[in-house]
Amino acid sequence: MSTLFHNIRIFDGTARAAREGSVLVEGNTIARVAYAPETIDARADTVIDGQGKVLMPGLVEAHAHLTWASSVEKIYHQFILPPEELEVAATRNARVLLDHGFTSAYSAGALGDGIEIRLARAIESGATPGPRLIPSTLERSPEGVEGVETGDVFNGRGPEAIRAFVDYCADEGLGSIKLVVSGECALKPDSHNDVLYAPEEMDAAREATHEHGLWIACHAYTDAAVDLALRAGARIIYHGSYISDAMVEKLAAHKDEVFYGPGCGVSVAALEASPPPHIDMSSMKNSAAERMALEGVLVPKMKAAGLRILIGGDYGFPFNPNGRNARDLSHFVQYFGFSPVEALNAATALGGELMGLKVGQVKEGWLADLLLVSGDPTQDVAILQDKDRLTAIMKDGQFHKAPAEAAVA
Ligand SMILES: [Zn+2]
Repeated sequence: MSTLFHNIRIFDGTARAAREGSVLVEGNTIARVAYAPETIDARADTVIDGQGKVLMPGLVEAHAHLTWASSVEKIYHQFILPPEELEVAATRNARVLLDHGFTSAYSAGALGDGIEIRLARAIESGATPGPRLIPSTLERSPEGVEGVETGDVFNGRGPEAIRAFVDYCADEGLGSIKLVVSGECALKPDSHNDVLYAPEEMDAAREATHEHGLWIACHAYTDAAVDLALRAGARIIYHGSYISDAMVEKLAAHKDEVFYGPGCGVSVAALEASPPPHIDMSSMKNSAAERMALEGVLVPKMKAAGLRILIGGDYGFPFNPNGRNARDLSHFVQYFGFSPVEALNAATALGGELMGLKVGQVKEGWLADLLLVSGDPTQDVAILQDKDRLTAIMKDGQFHKAPAEAAVA
């Protein structure tokens, strides 16, 4: 199967303006990219006249919570669901993300064990639609933390317990583990200063994940927590809201190994939310306001220091449902001083680097994960929030959503 897109403008995933051109997809691969005045003279099974629309890489969600049940299609007011219902919700959320242009997702942790690996396999086999998924399991908090039960593989203490957890995750076939290194101040005021792991536990995490080829994602707010995340060799660190300039410098020294995701979507949504009277969001709102103020200064510093900063904002809460994920691009522009193409670069090429796959760029030899967008996201990233503007969604060379006007040769 081959598809030729012509009469398009190409945003290639790098922080450059869109340019006129054409793209040929063969099988699951981008076979040719030509920029005007060059054209592609090839026969294709399907020919798409893009009518000047923008062809761009599929989006990458770098902080996905597919098991946080709420989506734009169905809101759940309870956080914990019965296992069967949770699985239904996660399966729906995978499809919802793809419907909204997300062709890749890196999990930041699940609410159930086993769900994401089953989902990743179902997506890969074509049994259910969804983004390419780096699956995870329960977010790991050690025992002794309020609300954490004791005694199983998800919360034992000490290096041996960490090794057992990583072994378990490797046996399950997971891609990434999530370590909650800082307390969550949105849920328990001022707990962001708590540090939940010991250095020797993080050393064990580094060794064991390295041995099994697993990645680590860390929830970390402060210097001490980010330092531990680096010690563990984390692939991505989320939040970092309270870190010092010295820690920004230390992160910059590791910028080729580590990614950073501020996770601002949930903060903005918490500040906007007007919950019913019986739901008290005041501590969540206070924490969100404080973190947005800090990140407004921090994130531009991280960017100036050359860190790879990725989108993804804890979507899945009823007030911040899955499906709204592309809002993060607008937040990057509005609150962190990104230009539209810089925000798009974060959401595509840099996200692709996180996935460790040839995705996130319109480039010969890369996987054909592509969006055809009505309007110009390089001028206004907000249009990506409207799924009706996604004329075509292609993943792995196949249309999840085919353009109505596609001509079949
Ligand atoms: Zn999260």
